[in-house]
Amino acid sequence: MTIPLTSTRLAAIAALLLSSAASAQPAQSAAELAQQGDDPAWAITRDLTTEIGPRMAGTDAEAAARRWATRRLQAMGFANVREEAFDMPVWVRGAEEAWLTGPFLPQKLAITALGNSASTGASGIEGEIAYFGSFDALAAAPDASVKGKIVFIDHQMKPAQDGSGYGYYGRGRFTGPNVAAKKGAIAIVIRSIGTDSHRNPHTGVTNFDAGVTPIPAGAISNPDADQLVRQWRRPQPVRTDAATRLRMKLILTPQNLGIRKSGNVIAEVPGSEPAASPVIIACHLDSWDLGTGAIDDAAGCGIITAAAKHVMSAGQPRRTIRILWAGAEEVGVFGGKAYFDAHGKEKHAVALESDFGADRVWRVDFKLPDGAKSLADRIAAAVMPFGVVRGKQPADGGADVGALIQAGVPAIDLAQDGTRYFDIHHTPDDTLDKIDPAQLRQNVTVWAATLAILANSSDSELP
Ligand code: ZN
Ligand code: ZN
Repeated sequence: MTIPLTSTRLAAIAALLLSSAASAQPAQSAAELAQQGDDPAWAITRDLTTEIGPRMAGTDAEAAARRWATRRLQAMGFANVREEAFDMPVWVRGAEEAWLTGPFLPQKLAITALGNSASTGASGIEGEIAYFGSFDALAAAPDASVKGKIVFIDHQMKPAQDGSGYGYYGRGRFTGPNVAAKKGAIAIVIRSIGTDSHRNPHTGVTNFDAGVTPIPAGAISNPDADQLVRQWRRPQPVRTDAATRLRMKLILTPQNLGIRKSGNVIAEVPGSEPAASPVIIACHLDSWDLGTGAIDDAAGCGIITAAAKHVMSAGQPRRTIRILWAGAEEVGVFGGKAYFDAHGKEKHAVALESDFGADRVWRVDFKLPDGAKSLADRIAAAVMPFGVVRGKQPADGGADVGALIQAGVPAIDLAQDGTRYFDIHHTPDDTLDKIDPAQLRQNVTVWAATLAILANSSDSELP
């Protein structure tokens, strides 16, 4: 039996949120909102980044974050709050320093190691730089042009509302080190996969194929990459003379700590019809260690949880809403994989994730069964007043629910404005002050409106 989401109930949810969500108004200061203390998305983002801070998956900090998360979700009144543990390999950062050492006077670079980088050893390594203008240029290069050298990968990523440069230019980080290692490079340094002009390097995970010995792999900030490129392009009268070649010294001493425990934190809003498949909403609890993980992804956990709380407060939904705070996304989506291993055979009505900062939702994309056409129309109409347009492309979900969607679970994306996301992403600048409370509230409003409709959808719409 279907309990339709009446316009009264939707209006009640909107009223809860609308008063403060008007995006045309100037942003309230963080301090103002913090004093109000009644906005759960802001409170989660503020408290997690303040009381826990950086929380690399599998470390003691992430374990503390799980205990924190469990307490918070229980205190908010959610049901079935639990931790589901899993094992994962843990990598931690060490010393990180780099210099351009020739042919000019030594100059220090702002560098950070990529996740899964090998160590150079404490005394570091020095070598000639092999410049590549793109990932594709490296992939096409003969081994001889790389062997024994430090590879540098450049790129031209620019800010974009949909963040679409990340997948394309990000290959330099995702697989550049693996390609360089296979060609015999002694190390690799990339231009940070970021769009800012600050001297903040952007970290992020890289992966080496089984059988490939990892090499030291780092990212330098955009201004440092510019400097490297300028030196590379200086007229060099005798390019073949070793003394005129561009050289770099690198000290990166990360360590692999072996297999440690992490875990997913799960909470629920129980539905009135337990037989109906649940709606799953996800974020990730872990973060990189350079900042405090405010935009990535404390805000995402704040957004989905606040939305679920608003739906719960408006009356029991028909379907169960399951909240997944995945314990390990950054270093290889171990949380999403563990969730799928444990729950992949259960039915899920639809999956959504928030992992793209806290700036406003501007587009909604769907990947729903044929019977859900009117459901999609209702959602598109409900979010339209908040400046959200309907996209033409299918939703792709998110990393932590990726395995579910791969297995056929329907998905909806509430796409956020990514124009400034890659200025901050995976840098020391990922801190609470970057969250715009007004845009955060718009997110929660859009999420709550969408979630209320989904959680009350019929079995013919979402089996
Ligand atoms: Zn993330
Ligand atoms: Zn991230």
